[in-house]
Amino acid sequence: MNELNASMIITDTIIALATPPGIGAIAVIRVSGNNAIKLTDKIFPSKDLLKVRSQTVHLGVLEYNGQILDEVLVTVFKNPKSYTGEDIIEISCHGSMFIVKSIIAVFYDLGVRYAKPGEFTKRAFMNGKLDLTQAEAVADLIASENKAAHETAINQMRGGFANQLKKLREKLVHFASMIELELDFGEEDVEFADRTQLEGLVEEIYYVVDKLVQSFSLGNVIKNGIPTVIAGKPNAGKSTLLNTLLKEEKAIVSDIPGTTRDFIEDEINIEGINFRFIDTAGLRETNDKVEAIGVQRTYEKMKKAALIIYMFDTSNTNINDYTTEINLLKSFNIPFTVLGNKIDLSAGENENTAFNKIHPFTGIIASDSVYVDKLKDNLLEILQLDKIKQDDTIVTNSRHYESLKNTLSALNDVKEALKNEVTGDLLALDIKQALNHLGEITGEITTDDLLANIFSKFCIGK
Ligand code: GDP
Repeated sequence: MNELNASMIITDTIIALATPPGIGAIAVIRVSGNNAIKLTDKIFPSKDLLKVRSQTVHLGVLEYNGQILDEVLVTVFKNPKSYTGEDIIEISCHGSMFIVKSIIAVFYDLGVRYAKPGEFTKRAFMNGKLDLTQAEAVADLIASENKAAHETAINQMRGGFANQLKKLREKLVHFASMIELELDFGEEDVEFADRTQLEGLVEEIYYVVDKLVQSFSLGNVIKNGIPTVIAGKPNAGKSTLLNTLLKEEKAIVSDIPGTTRDFIEDEINIEGINFRFIDTAGLRETNDKVEAIGVQRTYEKMKKAALIIYMFDTSNTNINDYTTEINLLKSFNIPFTVLGNKIDLSAGENENTAFNKIHPFTGIIASDSVYVDKLKDNLLEILQLDKIKQDDTIVTNSRHYESLKNTLSALNDVKEALKNEVTGDLLALDIKQALNHLGEITGEITTDDLLANIFSKFCIGK
């Protein structure tokens, strides 16, 4: 591990297609590095690019060895006012792969190298334009497929929680150096670092980090969708509900109990959150071998779900079965909601009231979208996802999660050390651990392997 330093800044010039490959109205090629402007100027006779201001756009032709390649728009970004912090040229050309390849070949001829995945963003990080969490958020942003994932990625890219952690880390660094100073005084009994203040700071950092650790399960849900199991006896109407939710005929609806033997998964986006619905074989005990396997698998799926929707037929359910199944559901310790289906068929007000006494349920008609739309709002409430938007400290990245958890454990050691009034050198060691883990998150502490791993996940051109 080594603290990042200025000597790592790379200066050769790189190029990549920034838009997706293929035919399009336009394609954008990005060139970054010391020679970006100088070399582009050589093949852009229309204007002297060395004399133009930063963040300006220029129309003209690209010409190389007497051949016109294309008529293009050239955008000039002068360092440090660019994404990477270096000189950048963006060439918007016509969106033909032949033109793109020809232009890139010319730059190659002029000594420009093709960029590796994520290399532009890596340079932005190296030049201090982004911290590591912001750089990683760029990858998440590009990959985000729903509104909530997009929002958390944007928050993180714009500073998010890393700034706060950085400030707290700096304070802790201060204490660490005070303790080092004490050690320099050797035998003399001096205390430069006020232990009570240090304890207060450690508590503060612990609180912040703990909250971030807690947010990860939610962050994960936003990024990957909420696994939601629809459970209930055969013929309760689960497939019908799923179909109404999906508004297409993916699950098989039939009158023969037990037809939904296999799991059908589909995603539906509710208010920007992806729910991954899993239709199951039902909970009933059965002698049919195939179905028994199905029931077993239902239990396994349910244990992994983040939400269970339990459905029963109000017109045809025995109150004892209902009690048993509700108790079973409670034992999973997973948020669940109960839907009493077929209220168009159930005759007895009284019977429904009896069910309701055991556990409150929402009465629905699974095929009716008016009921199902109401259910969608309910689902967000149950998971308390309506709170997400005001909260900008959500961790979605498993690397951050690991480092945050390690930070917590190191902070616990520091707390213990303070409580036991251990010697300065031991205390300093524990604090150093915490500093290292905190630094891993924002990128103050990095290794080449870590950086390679992070940036290799990017697409080329970013
Ligand atoms: P599953 O086995 O739980 O997936 O149940 P299905 O969705 O296959 O539904 C079983 C039968 O009940 C089908 O014939 C559906 O059309 C019917 N059904 C489902 N929901 C309702 C409802 O709310 N009212 C009425 N009357 N019939 C329903």
